[in-house]
Amino acid sequence: MQRMRSRMLLTVITLFSFTGSIAQSHEFRGKTVMSNGAEIGVGTIIFPLLKDTIEIGETSTIKVDISQKGRNLFYYRWGDWKSQVYRFPGGFCADTLVTVVVPDSGYYASFSKQKKCPVCLSGKNVVPILYGLPEKALLRKAKKRKAYLGGCIVSEDSPRAYCRKDDFEF
Ligand SMILES: [Zn+2]
Repeated sequence: MQRMRSRMLLTVITLFSFTGSIAQSHEFRGKTVMSNGAEIGVGTIIFPLLKDTIEIGETSTIKVDISQKGRNLFYYRWGDWKSQVYRFPGGFCADTLVTVVVPDSGYYASFSKQKKCPVCLSGKNVVPILYGLPEKALLRKAKKRKAYLGGCIVSEDSPRAYCRKDDFEF
């Protein structure tokens, strides 16, 4: 009896650790919050590879089916603020609720520092974003697609670089 019980216990533990380690899902579940932790809603999920979007209503919970090609790379946008880019090459993610933070400045700072696009992970098509009233020389640069004009208003959070391939500011 004692032996049977301990074997049963072992089976339960094994089963538990087994399912615990492979609990994966085709569905990404996230809770959208501002960097101060306040919940937010009415945002947009953007799939840059598909140039497709999903509008989210007044809820801070998002669900994304990542099994379809191109939908396994996305980010969440709330106003001008972006979450990090989530990518799941295998179409699977861990079956947990992820905290999706906007703006994820730390995430983008490392990409803009390296001049590497967070979508294609390459620097090949990345150009700097220039702010302010452009002078002639800058306009010429922009025309030659060696720079991207970001407008007159610049803040600490303003993106510094632009990927021409993905039409993505970061
Ligand atoms: Zn890119």
